[in-house]
This record gives sequence, C-alpha cells and structure tokens, in this order.
Amino acid sequence: MENIRRAVVKVGTSTLTYETGKVNIRRMEKLARVLSDLMNSGIQIALVSSGAIGIGVGKLGLSERPSDTPGRQAAATVGQCELMFMYDKLFGEYGITVGQLLITRSDFENEERNTNLHNAFSKLFEYGAMPVINENDCVGVEEIVFGDNDNLSAHVAKLIDADLLIILSDIDGLYTSNPREDDSAVFIPVIEEITDEILEYAGSTGSLRGTGGMITKLNAAKVAGEHGINTVLMNGANPEDIYRVLEGRQAGTLIKAKKV
Ligand code: GLU
Repeated sequence: MENIRRAVVKVGTSTLTYETGKVNIRRMEKLARVLSDLMNSGIQIALVSSGAIGIGVGKLGLSERPSDTPGRQAAATVGQCELMFMYDKLFGEYGITVGQLLITRSDFENEERNTNLHNAFSKLFEYGAMPVINENDCVGVEEIVFGDNDNLSAHVAKLIDADLLIILSDIDGLYTSNPREDDSAVFIPVIEEITDEILEYAGSTGSLRGTGGMITKLNAAKVAGEHGINTVLMNGANPEDIYRVLEGRQAGTLIKAKKV
C-alpha cells in the first residue's frame, strides 16, 4: 500500500446525494479536498462517479427515478452536467483540473477505442489533470439497465494499470449480514479470496440507494484482483479514511488481489 502511484476511486449515488435527490455538498466537498490533496502528494487519481441519474431526478423535480429507460437517460443527461459542474468547481478550488470521460462497455471491447481511451487517460495524467468517468448513460441502454459503475471502475483500473481500486458507498465494507437489520452482523476487514461464503454474505448486505449493492462490488474486486489490483470497500461518508488505507492501516474491507 505504501507504493501506490495511481488509484481509481469510485463513488456511488448514495454517497453523493441526499434522499431528496439533491447533491450532498458536504460529502462532495470532503471528497474533493482529500482527492486533491492526494493528487498534490503525487498520486494520480481517476474518479469514477455515479450520481447522474439521481441528481438529474432531483434537478428535474421528479418525484422518483423514472421507470422507463428514456426517462432515466434524460435524467442522466441533466444530472451529468450538474455533477461535472460541481466537480469542476470543487476541485478547481484546490487547483485540480478535471476532465470528463463518458464510457460504455463497448468502448472497452473495441480495440481501437480502447487504445484511444488509454491514450486520453495517459495524456490527462501527464497534464496533471484528474479524469472523472461515468457510463455514457444516454446511449448505453443496457448500461443503465444492467450496468453499474462498480464494474466500470474495475475496467478503468485495469485499463490504466492502477495500483489500487477504492469503492466508496454508504456502508463501511463487507459484513456477514446486513448490519442495518441484524445486530449480530460481523465486519470483515480483509478478504484473502472471494469464496462462495463471501458471496453469500454479500447477498444479504447491500448499499441502500445505489445501483449495485455488495455483489457488484465483489465482482468488481474480482476483475481488479485478476489484474493484480487490490480493492478496498469503504464508507464514502469518511473519505479521510483513504489516508489510512494508503498508510497501510485498516479502514474498510480490503480485498486482496491474486498474486500476478
Ligand atoms: N451511471 C449511473 C449514474 O450516473 C450510475 C450507475 C451506478 O449507480 O452504478 O447515475
């Protein structure tokens, strides 16, 4: 952990917004401060951010998330602007420049696009800027329906050869069952290998308002792990805990990568 030079941080809708659908400014500010500080220390960060649909719903004044795909797509286009406006403003206060990358799964599968993406990331890092990534929700129908940014973040980590993937959500990490419903739930600080037992624990936990829950986070950790990248699942309410992780101290659930 001491030698992390490039990390992907993924943040979910439940961390970035209130239940009203409005932006959680306090959380976003904290996150921007910590990530800017890490960038200043010389660590390159790529931020995979959800929240477009959720924030779009709030901004359009809709009472709930649309149940139809075009409705969610429209909400995503609105929310993505607000999201980037906030990031541009907050990171800008700390002198960090951000660039937006909207990606779909097919971009990773097409060799030429994959190379283009890789080059764009490299250049942004070379310029000292921070890439902010989301799914291109308005064109990627299946991305909205099945897709999740946990998975996307693992693919980004692979693409840019990150040393660490950090997934921030509304829960501290993995428990043996849902701690919100079960007092006997035990926290798991380290996972050496994602076994069936671990997947079973994940099935009964879950974050509240995001798309994925715990299963998609473990799947992401698996993808990253196969590429030799450790994953840490952490509570997005306390982004300062990222410092602890980088100092090799316990925070959240560390899912160890396969030795490659
Ligand atoms: N791309 C979606 C959004 O920005 C989020 C997908 C997810 O929650 O994983 O709203």
